Amino acid sequence: MLSSPALERASSYAVRGPLPTSTHYFALVGDSEVVEKLRALVRIPTVSHTDESLIDPAPFEEFRRVLAEAFPLLHERLALHQVRDHSLLFRWEGSGEADPVVLMAHIDVVPIEESAPGQHPPFGAEIHDGAIWGRGTLDDKGSLVGICAAVERLLEQGFVPTRDVWLSFGAREEVSGADAAAAVEELRSRGVAPWFVLDEGGAVAHEAFPGVTSPLGVVGVSEKGTTTIELRAEGRGGHSSTPERGGPTARIARAVVRLEKRPFAPSLPEPTLELFTRIAPHAPLALRPLFANARRLQPLVKRALVLAGPEPAALVRTTMAVTMLSGSPAHNVIASSATAAVNLRILVGDTVASATEHVRKAIADDSIQLDLVDVNEPSPVSPTDDPAFELITSTITELFADAVPTPYVVMAATDSRYFTAICPRVYRFTPFRMTKAQRESIHSHDEHIGVEDFLHGVRWYTRLIERLPA
Ligand SMILES: [Zn+2]
Repeated sequence: MLSSPALERASSYAVRGPLPTSTHYFALVGDSEVVEKLRALVRIPTVSHTDESLIDPAPFEEFRRVLAEAFPLLHERLALHQVRDHSLLFRWEGSGEADPVVLMAHIDVVPIEESAPGQHPPFGAEIHDGAIWGRGTLDDKGSLVGICAAVERLLEQGFVPTRDVWLSFGAREEVSGADAAAAVEELRSRGVAPWFVLDEGGAVAHEAFPGVTSPLGVVGVSEKGTTTIELRAEGRGGHSSTPERGGPTARIARAVVRLEKRPFAPSLPEPTLELFTRIAPHAPLALRPLFANARRLQPLVKRALVLAGPEPAALVRTTMAVTMLSGSPAHNVIASSATAAVNLRILVGDTVASATEHVRKAIADDSIQLDLVDVNEPSPVSPTDDPAFELITSTITELFADAVPTPYVVMAATDSRYFTAICPRVYRFTPFRMTKAQRESIHSHDEHIGVEDFLHGVRWYTRLIERLPA
């Protein structure tokens, strides 16, 4: 049945510690098969590179073959729309005419940093301490396999969804999002206007907030925009033995220091205010009044978060980081041009234009040229007082009774930002429990997902599809 070499390699699997106990949803036998399927797909190094010429197509083709073997009913019954080379867009036809939903995940992973001090090989998919270790287990093959496993099992039972369910799996999420943009174009050309779109982003996050012991079921309702501005100063250049004051490097250095001194003003977007209100009853006693009255006490909350460290500060303002610097190519040559890249993460409420204006004013030097390198506005805020959001959060409550569901603003970028063009309800949530260490392992080393947590996520996707109203 499992005939591919990748799946065969996966069969030498042993769980350390007790096996997860069976649940009333699925038999244990089916569960261990699903775990093997995830492991087989994690072993395939579907690595994306910003320079697309460096991308090896072979693993992506292998991924597609193994996925088809792992989920035969899905591939037989759902219509596949090949939009771009390595991406997949499936349509599962529902019984009714109501607006469809789109479930998203991505196939690609970020490259391995050879110097990273990983405990377990990134493409080993080894099982240790009840978890599967490997790049992509959380970001984002866990979701992809979770969605496919839910669909496969529902198909086995003869289940038909009440409305169309589209599955959109991009293979360029980590680099450009071109696949997601193409999927959006395909859906738009077919007149598909989704009821809601669900992608990665949030999670059942443990240790999410200092002093809050309950895990938070954070559902992203907006994401920050990512934009880079290149600053450029020009000059005469020349030999370093006869320097002039105010050359390009000095002006770029002064600009960088001025930016450091002029951070963006903090603001509290609506989803963050709602987050405080929702977690207030679970916060430490001393903080409860502050959180519960966050709306009224905004100046105080903003100041507290800015002072609490870089992570809380990023919640309440547009951030900028100077990343790449360049000057002269030799020790004894004065630069005729110097540059600095300012990477901005734009909070909803700001725009690319307003953020660029802030940078221009902070620098206060007309001789410096500003060039926008890539431009992404923050995503519009999806509604929280809404049946689709309610469906997602009540499914969280059903399967994660200890979690506090709440909206929030995603700090990173996801493929779902493209879908805001065709859908006002774009939510970002992966139904997996994640500790702080697990969240930090994403794009780093020793990424891992608990075996039982993964299986529980499959149940979550299953229930979400079962609960779709007509
Ligand atoms: Zn991802």
